[in-house]
Amino acid sequence: MVSLLVVFPAIMKSLITTGDGSAKLVEVADPVAGPGELLVAPISAGICGTDLEIISGDGDPAFVKYPASLGHEWAGKVIGHGPGVTSPAIGSRIVVTGIIPCQECFECKNGDTNRCLIYDEIGFTRPGAAADLITVPAWLAHVVGDNVSDESAVLAEPTAVVTQAFMKANPKQGSKILIIGDGTIALIAATMAKTYKPALIHMLGLKDGQNEIAKVAGADEFLTQPTDDKYDLIIEAAGAPTRISAAVGQLVRGGTLLLLGYPGHQRTAAIVVDDVINGDLNIIGSFGSSLAAWSKTVEMFNTGKLDLGYLVTHKFKLSEFSAAIEALKSAPAPRGKIALIIN
Ligand SMILES: [Zn+2]
Ligand SMILES: [Zn+2]
Repeated sequence: MVSLLVVFPAIMKSLITTGDGSAKLVEVADPVAGPGELLVAPISAGICGTDLEIISGDGDPAFVKYPASLGHEWAGKVIGHGPGVTSPAIGSRIVVTGIIPCQECFECKNGDTNRCLIYDEIGFTRPGAAADLITVPAWLAHVVGDNVSDESAVLAEPTAVVTQAFMKANPKQGSKILIIGDGTIALIAATMAKTYKPALIHMLGLKDGQNEIAKVAGADEFLTQPTDDKYDLIIEAAGAPTRISAAVGQLVRGGTLLLLGYPGHQRTAAIVVDDVINGDLNIIGSFGSSLAAWSKTVEMFNTGKLDLGYLVTHKFKLSEFSAAIEALKSAPAPRGKIALIIN
């Protein structure tokens, strides 16, 4: 009998920040899969504005534990099972629910695991996937089908955030939708909005150069200046307080403003309350993503309803993380997701 012995280095690299404005690849001990856990080799990890906030220390301190190991947007391959685990099989390509539900609290028991009272999230309070290896609870792994590209799979986390928000906003067929912003969340929102068969999708961005990728994402028109049009649903994905204020005046009666862009800790936006009350408006916030949103997201990927392969425009090796962060801050349009290719 031939036995195959696979030896992994006992020391791996992980992208770590203390919130002092810098990130470093640090050598740490290989994680070991405990009971109920999987050992996973990340395939790639996306980086986003939230990572920049974690690095700069500007994010909400309630949601980060320093030193923080980055990488909350990722896909990986199962390479080991902890005690008691038999699935997903070794070699499976997976994505993993980012917010780990405690399963005990009021929110978890009601299915609102994105609001779990014991907040614990991959890449925020527990080690992220911008590393050679990661361990995760096996029950939170979702196997992605062979038809799903690595580029789509790495976008599972931001997509689940959009799915969560859409479950709340519930776009209507035939509605007019405005998406404010032209970054990853805005682009994913356009692609997802399309599946609801709206009458039109406008995207209000900053950079002319995003025009083409916005069209691929599903926007019927890409604007760089606001118009006088009225919308049934406005999705604010830029985190721009002045745009949030203006959006209230651009909704039809009964319309919905969905807030997904994070303007920064404790920032405010003025709102004309008359318009909200007399317009019978809904203003919706959405935080993170529940287990239900992850299941729905992976189902949309696996059934081919959602394909986000177009969105990864920049790839770097993990060792090139500095260049990746620089690209995130200043790469010219067209720009979609910036991903670190790891294994
Ligand atoms: Zn992110
Ligand atoms: Zn909980």
